[in-house]
Amino acid sequence: MNKKICIIIPIYNEVNNIVVMLSAIKIVMQPLPYDYNIIFVDDGSSDDSLLFLKKIAAENKLLNYISFSKNFGHQNALKAGLDLSDADAVISMDGDMQHPPSLLPQLIALWETGNDVVYTIRKKEKEMPFIKRTTSNLFYNILNKLSSIEIENGTADFRLLDRKVVNVIREIKEYDLFWRGMVKWLGFKQTSIEYVPAERANGVSKYNFKKMMELALKGITSFSTKPLTIAIYLGFASAFISLAYIPYALLSILYGHPVSGWASVIVTIAFFGGIQLIILGIIGMYLGKLFMQSKQRPHYIINETNIK
Ligand code: UDP
Ligand code: MG
Repeated sequence: MNKKICIIIPIYNEVNNIVVMLSAIKIVMQPLPYDYNIIFVDDGSSDDSLLFLKKIAAENKLLNYISFSKNFGHQNALKAGLDLSDADAVISMDGDMQHPPSLLPQLIALWETGNDVVYTIRKKEKEMPFIKRTTSNLFYNILNKLSSIEIENGTADFRLLDRKVVNVIREIKEYDLFWRGMVKWLGFKQTSIEYVPAERANGVSKYNFKKMMELALKGITSFSTKPLTIAIYLGFASAFISLAYIPYALLSILYGHPVSGWASVIVTIAFFGGIQLIILGIIGMYLGKLFMQSKQRPHYIINETNIK
């Protein structure tokens, strides 16, 4: 019997990309000696993605869909796909053709040679928008400095996981999911390949600045508590600096102009006010994580699926 591969594709308003993805995957996968199925995870799309998926799933046995009750986010959509897959190897990829389906045979071949995780790294592209390139570089540099995991710059959510890795992932109850970090953290035998991202086939990017910031903060706070330590250092440093004001204040009394210095008082209040807010914010971020985790809400709610 052939081994089975499952391809998970989260989609959020990608109705025009579904057929493009399907046929591109079919061309690549059909000649290979594997059984395969594709799970589209409809992450609460407001377009006709679900209707369309249901229509084509009725005629195509290889096609499965999971539809959420609302938008739960890309990382949670990946979790749903992993939870409901039953294949020997599970591949996740974006639904906009930016992760080239032509790489699938290579991922599978590396898996067959004994790797449990085959992940991909986006090759530095000159055509990539300057802002996206620099913010992405900055994010990975900060994350790697702060945490104990090392994630290569440009690691993508395009990867193959062996069944045993997927089984481990299913047991993980962490609320904030950041797969790039999690997969690295899991260990097992990992390897990577580089790829050149293609142009988006249709539509626009669903990762706006807000979603990107959220993912970045999730990544950092999930794999490091160093920001809390930094907060302490910041507190010590500012307390130390403020000590310098004591001789200044005493000297001004001695020299007879104790009430001067309105500007310096305002600047000091504003400065330390700012530092306190930053530190509170950092503590608050971790507190929020604990709060969300303690509620134990599910990562996603399935509205409809054709997976039995
Ligand atoms: N996506 C999702 N839920 C979201 C945002 C994005 O399922 O809330 C999907 C999206 O449809 C796509 C993939 O995640 O298949 C990657 O998103 P996108 O291509 O918009 O991000 P970019 O490539 O611009 O970073
Ligand atoms: Mg994309």
